[in-house]
Amino acid sequence: MRLVVQKYGGTSVGDAERIQKVAERLIETQREGARVVAVVSAMAGVTDNLVKLAHAVSPSPSARELDLLLATGEHASSALTAMAVNALGGKAISLTGAEAGILTDDTHLKARIANISPRQIHELLSDDYIVVVAGFQGQSAEGETTTLGRGGSDLTAIALAGALNADACQIFTDVDGVFTCDPRLVTDAQKLDEIAYDELLEMAGAGSKVMQSRAVEFAKKFGIEFEVRSSLKSVSGTVAKEETPSMEDVVVRGVSLERRQAKLTVSGVRDQPGIAAAIFSTVAASHIVVDMIVQSAPTDGVTDISFTIHQDELEDARKILMPIVSQIGASHLRTASGMAKLSVVGIGMRSHSGVAARLFECLGRSGINIQLISTSEIKIALVIDENDAERAAQLTHVEFGLASLAPAASATRPLG
Ligand code: ADP
Ligand code: ASP
Ligand code: MG
Repeated sequence: MRLVVQKYGGTSVGDAERIQKVAERLIETQREGARVVAVVSAMAGVTDNLVKLAHAVSPSPSARELDLLLATGEHASSALTAMAVNALGGKAISLTGAEAGILTDDTHLKARIANISPRQIHELLSDDYIVVVAGFQGQSAEGETTTLGRGGSDLTAIALAGALNADACQIFTDVDGVFTCDPRLVTDAQKLDEIAYDELLEMAGAGSKVMQSRAVEFAKKFGIEFEVRSSLKSVSGTVAKEETPSMEDVVVRGVSLERRQAKLTVSGVRDQPGIAAAIFSTVAASHIVVDMIVQSAPTDGVTDISFTIHQDELEDARKILMPIVSQIGASHLRTASGMAKLSVVGIGMRSHSGVAARLFECLGRSGINIQLISTSEIKIALVIDENDAERAAQLTHVEFGLASLAPAASATRPLG
């Protein structure tokens, strides 16, 4: 018999009525002849509220207590979903992450899955239960509750699909699939029928929060195909899978935007070994996540090093960097918040030239200033003023013909 893993996000289980709709879909899937494992997120807004409450009672809540607290959001939604299935005459049982056999390392708040022992799930499935697993959580070897990072129910679903050797993994959400750009930002963004793991990974890492990037990374590593689709409509969504040769025909698959970025520039730095290490080891020791790093070409033996971080970490970064700036003999530290990162992503960039030039021309024509540029094989990322961000995403979307995904997208020259 087919085994299907279905994940429902926060909006999809956002109130009693939606939970009942999810319950109906679970029963219907079982009636169609499948064994069903559901993974649910906390009801919309619950995790954010719990985080707020924690900070209201403590200036620095411990990661252990936060994990115990945050896991309750998914406990509630999984129990409610099982109750709703049972009330409709179905047969369901809810399990916490630990009961579902999800073993993690002991890194509170961003634990990694170490192993899954799905024995209990298999037993319950053989007894015809719909098994509803609380997403986003697991248990360390010491028996501590851990969570898998924000958006982590995606990872629970993908990892369970892998461990159970599921025939299908469906990620139900509040949009119809993965779009060429966030449909809330660009109204004529198009739903993609398919996307390569690498493209979705780059998009997720560049601010498209439709999937958690660690979940996509896991899917890619173990070759777990999944579909992102709507929990509100019965339409097919976007299949994320290993790339196929024809996927390279589309140069730009999507545009992502990440807001609330800050740029820091250490200027007048001597061009010698060990300087970059001094700056970035200090930043890393404070657990501040650095994104883009750009070093300018040296003039008269001195250079500038710029990098970006999340705007909320700017004050901390400034405090820890000030002493380093004088220690390494740099002339000063300049900082700017209110930045955004715009990224264009597509595996077609490997075999087509001229994408960067076309992107820069498009933004230049519209008076949008580019402050930093970084590239990978399948991505071009730019730092721009946050006030220009939405317009830049819309212009880029039009420039690369993403609304139609046909002629304009292939107007760049194939290489070779
Ligand atoms: P869930 O609660 O179901 O996990 P999320 O809020 O985490 O849902 O992710 C879905 C949201 O992702 C959508 O509502 C949409 O605004 C946003 N999003 C960002 N980029 C994209 C994209 N390229 N395609 C689809 N949705 C996107
Ligand atoms: N509830 C968690 C969050 O809001 C996990 C998830 O929704 O996937 O991040
Ligand atoms: Mg999500």
